[in-house]
Amino acid sequence: MKNVPTTPRQKIELFVTDGGAQIAQIPMLEFPGLWGYAYFILVDDVELGEMRVLIDAGSGIGDSNKHLETGLLTAGALLGRQIGFANLTHILITHGHIDHFGGLNYVRARSQALLGIHELDRRVLTNYTERLSVIGRRLHEYLIEAGVPSERLERIMEMYRSTKNLFQPEPVDFTYESAGMRCGPFEILHVPGHCAGHVVLRLHNMLFSGDHVLSDTTPHQAPEQLTLSTGLDHYLHSLEALRSWANQPQLTFGGHKKPIVDLNERIDIIRAMHDERLQKVLSILKEPRTINEVSHILFPEVHGYNVLLALEEAGAHVEFLYQRGMLEIANLAELEASRGPVPLIYRCLDCRM
Ligand SMILES: [Zn+2]
Ligand SMILES: [Zn+2]
Repeated sequence: MKNVPTTPRQKIELFVTDGGAQIAQIPMLEFPGLWGYAYFILVDDVELGEMRVLIDAGSGIGDSNKHLETGLLTAGALLGRQIGFANLTHILITHGHIDHFGGLNYVRARSQALLGIHELDRRVLTNYTERLSVIGRRLHEYLIEAGVPSERLERIMEMYRSTKNLFQPEPVDFTYESAGMRCGPFEILHVPGHCAGHVVLRLHNMLFSGDHVLSDTTPHQAPEQLTLSTGLDHYLHSLEALRSWANQPQLTFGGHKKPIVDLNERIDIIRAMHDERLQKVLSILKEPRTINEVSHILFPEVHGYNVLLALEEAGAHVEFLYQRGMLEIANLAELEASRGPVPLIYRCLDCRM
């Protein structure tokens, strides 16, 4: 394994699969304080010949494009090849979150590579602005129902709308299900939850897990009320689906953080964390409370965009419990009397005194 410094903290690392494919892990600063990875893979395929694949493309924000571009050149130098955007044959996106596809406008202006994404996230790329408007309306309603005070609600909506200019719609060349959940030697598993069209890719004895499973961090959850095929129920099912499909990979490369050595152990830890959080939410809701109040108790110290992430995370857990009849709405009369959304007060059904 050879290392070349790009910044004091982050290095390009090389790995080799048991089938002889070469992998370069390219670090990028995607948002202030958020590092992530794209992966460059050099692999031979019987039908497609030499494939030069990029998995994910960074956020396109700040230094992200620069880190990706120089990272690719450095990876090429380490592999004894001339590699740049122009040499790529395929770009495979793990899921439709901006820190994974936002760099596509920059990359595709310089590349003829075929772009693939799962069906359920295709619209995120092709109809980026339309989707933001549609989800924005749902988010507004969700925040009212969550009991977020109006001034804070407006600040969150403004923050959300400001992401409109981050990306121009991009055409997609192929979707994974239409390609038989394969791309050359890459096998693909659909794992909805963290994102509707999230996939995990397998190449020989290595996996690329995007944000479905990460080391050190529990991937973010949002309620399905905001986007179909997300939510904790889908996510937990997809964790188990990955466990049985994965076949003990040697390493699992996430979109952030270090590679995972023991995938099953990591899945167990994430699963246990959600069970614990569900119990905590039940206990918080012994007293009738809104999602906003649950969020404050679960995550007391959050600021900026993390306020929205905390509200979504709390809402995903409340939704999961409510769906299973473990919570009830304490202010049903108020809801029935109103034609529009009202703050909903939840309480634990079996915890009543
Ligand atoms: Zn991410
Ligand atoms: Zn993500």
